[in-house]
Amino acid sequence: MVAKKAAGSKAFKPAEKDLADAKERVKKIIPILKKAYPDARCALDHQNPLELLMATILSAQCTDVRVNIVTKDLFKKYRTARDYAQADIGKLEEDIKSTGFYHNKAKNIQGACAAMIEKHGGEVPATMEELTALPGVGRKTANVLLGNAFGIPGIVTDTHVIRLSRLIGLSGNTDAVKLEQDLMEIVPKKEWTLFSHLLIFHGRQVCVARKPDCSNCPIKELCAYEKGV
Ligand code: SF4
Repeated sequence: MVAKKAAGSKAFKPAEKDLADAKERVKKIIPILKKAYPDARCALDHQNPLELLMATILSAQCTDVRVNIVTKDLFKKYRTARDYAQADIGKLEEDIKSTGFYHNKAKNIQGACAAMIEKHGGEVPATMEELTALPGVGRKTANVLLGNAFGIPGIVTDTHVIRLSRLIGLSGNTDAVKLEQDLMEIVPKKEWTLFSHLLIFHGRQVCVARKPDCSNCPIKELCAYEKGV
């Protein structure tokens, strides 16, 4: 039996052969994970793009469960970009305090809302370029918005997506933007949003960080880590 390398040590070489192999494996992985996680979706509760943007900003270094508890009341109190932008910063910080890093998050929320009022009539813009121009909004947050609020395919490189992509052997990159680019090459575009959700669900339920449960993993035959590649 081939000894497994340490988790995440697989060096993915983007040569044509590796790319073709990764594409072939992803084609098989997607239906298996879809069957395993038929409810895979964005775990942040929201009713519109503004709520999703606020929830995503709050989710940095915080669990989705905690964010959903906080936004339940927050979304009743603040309904428009103007409500956030004009709020007393101290009160806004108090309202989001339990999500952690609340000084920065309140600043980013007010900055993003002020920019949306100034440039987009108070609406959340629907392009990568416009979203990432908002204060405190990076590609990860923008992809959450594109994929889950606007139906535009986007790969969200959260911690599970990075870890699992490396384990499965789809990318050797730790840099989120480079890894996103690798996945954009490998995963069919129409599946980008769902693929992120599937890896997140799999990373929470089976391929957990402390000890991946490889023997009970439905994609073990297609995983570089399990095969010791
Ligand atoms: S076989 Fe499954 S659980 Fe094990 S590392 Fe690969 S994806 Fe994770």
